[in-house]
Amino acid sequence: MQKTGKKGLSLARRLYTSRILGLALGLLLVSAAVYPLDPAPWVWGLLLFNGLLWPHLSYQWARRSAVPYHAEHRNLLIDALLGGFWVAAMQFNPLPTAVTLAMMSMNNVAIGGLRFLLAGALAQVAGIALGSVVFPLTSVPMTSPTQLYACLPLLCLYPLALGWICFRQAYTLGRQKRELLALSRTDSLTGLLNHGAWKDRLNEEFQRCLRHPPDEALGAIALIDIDHFKAINDTYGHGAGDVVLRQLGKLLRQNLRAADIVGRYGGDEFCVILPDLTLHKAVQAMDGLRERFATLAYEQDPALKVSLSIGLAAFNPAYGDATAWFNDADQLLYEAKSSGRNRVVCQRHLPKLEASTV
Ligand code: GH3
Ligand code: MG
Repeated sequence: MQKTGKKGLSLARRLYTSRILGLALGLLLVSAAVYPLDPAPWVWGLLLFNGLLWPHLSYQWARRSAVPYHAEHRNLLIDALLGGFWVAAMQFNPLPTAVTLAMMSMNNVAIGGLRFLLAGALAQVAGIALGSVVFPLTSVPMTSPTQLYACLPLLCLYPLALGWICFRQAYTLGRQKRELLALSRTDSLTGLLNHGAWKDRLNEEFQRCLRHPPDEALGAIALIDIDHFKAINDTYGHGAGDVVLRQLGKLLRQNLRAADIVGRYGGDEFCVILPDLTLHKAVQAMDGLRERFATLAYEQDPALKVSLSIGLAAFNPAYGDATAWFNDADQLLYEAKSSGRNRVVCQRHLPKLEASTV
């Protein structure tokens, strides 16, 4: 990703390397093609400038411009114009001409798609027209063995370099896509799953439970809400409130099983899927967590004590969808709040429950 905020700076950096290589190899090719034509000294000067100096000059030009992307667009057109010019200077010698035009077109299409390809082709035609005025066509020379060998480095190395650059870019884009996806599913304060990501997992878990025989312990979901969190914010400040939220996230991560799926539902509400667990075991796990959280001490405010209310609902095959399961847990959380807070409340009607309210 670009750190400077200038559009096209990373493109300019990529093109810098490929231009140094491509134009140095192009210098070899054009030199071999124009040498037998005995060109004037200024032609050699221009050729050396184009092959050795232009890559550095064009990069600095793009780097210093307000929008490097536009500057590189212009530089690519200059590349194509000069390429066309050298084609005419070579008197359309077949192999060097074909290699020059093909490599430039490949470069343009790889960088800017059809738009750059067409713009580059027009610039090449303009370059050829200009070159034809400066170097009128006398006869089309045949490609000599020396000229053929001079074409080979560009023909072999440049596609390899461009392919490598494209591969690196595709690889980087893939990695950034994965990072962005992970970011879009993560709650930035706690590092837990966010609302949407957790709900997706709940739907998956619901489908998995439906596929299993109903007599198995299929698991439960817990909705956890911090008691009087507003008062904590008001009394100790939002910074302290954030610390409490992060502590709860950490406690959930450290004290639950790797298979448990933990998320922050929003605000001071957290949510957990506890797969393959009886309701009794789930109550024990959640109540242990509630007790541990209540004893946590906060460095910045030793007087601060925080409790949790938890609604816990085991999977029931009678649920029509995951939302019904979630709503049950929400209703139980409401009961935990209304019956005094700082407690775990689970379904009363399920068999083999030791206590509905712990
Ligand atoms: P109850 O016991 O009934 O749950 O009371 P409560 O005060 O916790 O009530 P409520 O759940 O409505 O309060 C949630 C508060 O959480 C309100 C909001 O300002 C605060 N909050 C939401 N997101 C954040 C956050 O990211 N950081 C902080 N510090 N506070 C937040
Ligand atoms: Mg609350």
